[in-house]
Amino acid sequence: MRRVGVLSLQGDVREHVATLENLGATPRRVRRVADLDGLDGLIIPGGESTAIGHLLTTSGLRDPLQSMIDDGMPVFGTCAGLILLATRILDGRDDQWSFAALDVAVRRNGYGRQIASFEVPIDIGDRGTVPGVFIRAPRIEQCGPDVTVWASHDHGDGEHPVLVRQGALWGCSFHPELTSDVLVHGLFLDALQEALR
Ligand code: GLN
Repeated sequence: MRRVGVLSLQGDVREHVATLENLGATPRRVRRVADLDGLDGLIIPGGESTAIGHLLTTSGLRDPLQSMIDDGMPVFGTCAGLILLATRILDGRDDQWSFAALDVAVRRNGYGRQIASFEVPIDIGDRGTVPGVFIRAPRIEQCGPDVTVWASHDHGDGEHPVLVRQGALWGCSFHPELTSDVLVHGLFLDALQEALR
């Protein structure tokens, strides 16, 4: 049985937990170091990347999580979570850090401010189409050679990847947890199951 966690320090934790439950998983809320015990995979939710980063440090979760990510644990970062996985943050705060694991450059708030939030259908090839909710979303501006782009969106200034994968690491700019569509979480859980085989 897969043991998937949702980092539960700040952000839309409840929505991720509900989506995973809809898929039949029993997610674990990860708040402290003991919650990492025996974890097979983790979702880092949307919210505020600087706040989550700060709480990761103060909770003591940062170092053990960094080791688990470096050791290949599957992790899916959505929105702020994507920023926390990225190797490069553009327009970040000076003291902002990340796990620097997913080889992408992301621009914080690259699609504009809160008031510029939008929802568009996102096409994931033969997997289908999902509603993409973008809220102060990071824009992926560069991907390393090992990154596969699963979906892109052109918001009027050229195509940018919005759902990417690099081995066990997944990232998306939008919020799949804010709609009733479970497709994206399902893809991650399938990959998690696969990795455990
Ligand atoms: N702009 C936010 C940040 O930098 C992310 C927004 C979100 O997760 N909805 O953390």
